[in-house]
Amino acid sequence: MRSLRVLFVTPEVEPFVKVGGLADMVGALPKELAALGLDVRVVCPLYGATKRVGEWRERAEPLGVDVGPEARWAKVWETTLPGAAVPAYFIEHDWFFARSEVYSEQGDNAHRFVFFSRAALALCQQLEWIPDVIHCHDWTVGLVPVFLNTTLRGTPLARAATVFTIHNLEHQGYADTGVVSYARLPWSEFRADSLESYGRVNLMKAGLYHSTKLTTVSPTYAQEIRTAAGGFGLDHVLRFRAGDLVGILNGIDAVSWNPATDKSLPANYSAADLAGKAVCKAALQKELGLAPDPRVPLFGVVSRFASQKGLDLLAEALPRVLERMDVQFALLGSGDARLEEFFRHVPALYPGRIGTHVGFNGHLSRLVQGGSDVFVMPSRSEPCGLTQMYAMRYGTPPLVRATGGLVDTVENYVEGGDAGTGFVFNDATAGALADTIGWACATYYDRPAEFAGLQQRGMAKDFSWRGSAQHFAELYGWAVEARTGQRHV
Ligand code: ADP
Repeated sequence: MRSLRVLFVTPEVEPFVKVGGLADMVGALPKELAALGLDVRVVCPLYGATKRVGEWRERAEPLGVDVGPEARWAKVWETTLPGAAVPAYFIEHDWFFARSEVYSEQGDNAHRFVFFSRAALALCQQLEWIPDVIHCHDWTVGLVPVFLNTTLRGTPLARAATVFTIHNLEHQGYADTGVVSYARLPWSEFRADSLESYGRVNLMKAGLYHSTKLTTVSPTYAQEIRTAAGGFGLDHVLRFRAGDLVGILNGIDAVSWNPATDKSLPANYSAADLAGKAVCKAALQKELGLAPDPRVPLFGVVSRFASQKGLDLLAEALPRVLERMDVQFALLGSGDARLEEFFRHVPALYPGRIGTHVGFNGHLSRLVQGGSDVFVMPSRSEPCGLTQMYAMRYGTPPLVRATGGLVDTVENYVEGGDAGTGFVFNDATAGALADTIGWACATYYDRPAEFAGLQQRGMAKDFSWRGSAQHFAELYGWAVEARTGQRHV
């Protein structure tokens, strides 16, 4: 049997370019699929800030891409995902991508990613490598399945089934109608069950209607997005496609995220011997200007500063928490300007008790995971969330709101019992968050054996990609059968 060919078409991939959890998934899942015997490849734009990890080779042939009034030409670079024989291609086109940011503020994202989507398909044709499945990730590549169903219909590529993963339904990629002709799509696609939404083009919606199968990153989020409360205006589309929508929990790269080997930590540790965690805590306190107190519970945050992540709730809760409890906070993140401003200034009001680092820093994120006692993630909505899984692996019980993937990954602590991996609250209010921080604080001080139980159970969880990769391999089989009417043999 020929290996099933799968192409990941993505705007981000670890360790080359990352904005959020999407990059982690695309950097890890293909490796697991390759280990299962699939022929997997990845294609991504080459941004100004892309890190050229490993060996890169420029492909000799330029790539012609049919968009707009004339063909545009791109360069293609080839490398592999580190530690695996998974080819990764990067599309270079300076006009669109030679900027530091992935999602640009210049108002031309739709054109940039239409170009990229079309380029990814042109690359398959140039390589004469026709995938059985094209796996698309979020709104930027929503037109890939549309091309296969329209302008490329009748070509060998159109046999490819498409799987579209919703990483975050909140970002949908609205664009002006000019994108339709730029993509060279027929105007007949500008309708409510294809590209159109409120008189504009919605790239996510296009992907949801045109893909063979849909997935999202946790079972609970798969339920939530079918409701008016969680559907961000697309719940009717997801109800319509409910029979093809599956929630498959994201895994984590358990090799990279391992406190026993993580080189970013000043000391390594494992469930059997947590001594190194105290060294990490001391280093984190030093790094963020906190009082060097091994006894006080240290609450850590690594997050985009956004209301989706509930960081406004934390901002509101902090004063009352700090005034009433003996605790410390270590915050790492960036995003919303007002939240950045708040978290930058609040440490001066509580010297030695809060430390903030505004920015994106992979090394420090690992130190926060390792050095904190409790990891705080009060998300209003959370498709899956990775950081709570990293936290459990690093012996840092997460404190989370019961939403999306947080429901599927964190089990609530029951006082006096021997179950649970973290602290869970329901209401998206500063009061509920503050109370739950109080509960975690009391557990830490008054019930240390139970707190240690939470740590041990979290560290024993298997969040690796293995199980989810199996699930994806099965789903690809269903997609091929649905698309072609034949099983892959
Ligand atoms: P989202 O994709 O919604 O931002 P996830 O929890 O799924 O949330 O993934 C976030 C990823 O980005 C994690 O790998 C996390 O460690 C990382 N991350 C978030 N903020 C920062 C930061 N300021 N510095 C370093 N890494 C960060």
